[in-house]
Amino acid sequence: MNVQMEYVVPDGFVFEKAQNVMHGRYGSMEFLIVPMMTENQFQIQLYADMEKSSKKNQFLEYLKALQQRHSFVQYAGYDGKDMVSVYVASKEQEDKENLTLVISELTGKCEEYGLHNCCSSCRKVRPLHAVTVDRVPALLCQDCETQLARGMDEKREHLLLGVIGAVLGALLGSVLWVVLGQIGFIAGIAGYAIVFCAIKGYELLGKKLSKSGIVICVLLSFLMIAGAEFTSLAVTVYKEMGSLFVSSIWDAFGWIPELMQEPELAMGVGKDLVVGYILAIWASYSLVKYSWRQAGELQRPHTIERF
Ligand SMILES: [Zn+2]
Repeated sequence: MNVQMEYVVPDGFVFEKAQNVMHGRYGSMEFLIVPMMTENQFQIQLYADMEKSSKKNQFLEYLKALQQRHSFVQYAGYDGKDMVSVYVASKEQEDKENLTLVISELTGKCEEYGLHNCCSSCRKVRPLHAVTVDRVPALLCQDCETQLARGMDEKREHLLLGVIGAVLGALLGSVLWVVLGQIGFIAGIAGYAIVFCAIKGYELLGKKLSKSGIVICVLLSFLMIAGAEFTSLAVTVYKEMGSLFVSSIWDAFGWIPELMQEPELAMGVGKDLVVGYILAIWASYSLVKYSWRQAGELQRPHTIERF
C-alpha cells in the first residue's frame, strides 16, 4: 500500500500514527479503521449490539450484498459476537471516497435497524473510548478500561460457590477412590480424579478459576485423598467385623484410631496414601500447570492506551 494516510482518512476522522489506526464518528456510529499495509487493504471495524437486535439477519444479508455491490469491498462479515468487519482494498486516490462510502452506508443501516455501538469487552451500550489493548485497537467503556488495566477478567469469580463446587467434585472423585480400594485396585489412580473433579467443580460453580481457586482445589484434594483412604478403611472394617461389633459405617470410623495402633495396618494405609499422593501429583501436574497459566493470562494487567 503506497498511500499517505492523511489523504485517506474520512472527514472528521483522525489517524493515530503510533497505534496505526484511524478512528472517528460518522453520524451516530463510531468506527475504527486499521490500515493493513502488507495486504494492501483497510479493515473497517464496527462494534455493535447485534446480538440484542431482532434485525441481525437483515443486517447480515446487507453485509453480503455490500460485498457483491462494490468491487473494492473484499469481504464484509460479522464475528458472531459484536464486531462487523469490512475489508476495503486500497485503490490509492479513491481510498478516502471508498472508506467514506462504506462507513456512511454502515451508519445508515445501523440507524435504520436501531443498532448502537457497544463496548468491545462487555458488549454493553455505554459511552466508549477508542483505545488499544496491548496494541490491539478496541472501543471500551470506562468500567472495562479500568478492569483490563488492573488485570481483572470481566467475569467475576464466586469464591464460595467455587469452593462448594470443588468440595462436590472432590467428593465425586473420592467415591471412585473408595470403590477402587474395595475391589482391591490401586486406589491412588483415583487421586487424579479427585484433583480433576475438584478443579472442574470449582470452575463450573465459581464461574472462573483464579490462582487462589487452584490453590484451594489442590489443598482440598489432598485432604480429600486422606479422607477417602480412611473412608475406604472404615468400609473394610464394617464389612470384616460384621454388625455384631459395628452397627453402622459411622461406628466403623470410631474403630480407626485403635486400628491404627497396629503397625502392619498403619503401614498399609501409609503406603496407600504415599502411592495415592505420588500418583495424584504425577497425573494432575500438567492439568494444574495448564490451569495456573490460564488463570495468570486472565489476571494479567493489560496495557491500555487511549487516543
Ligand atoms: Zn465494557
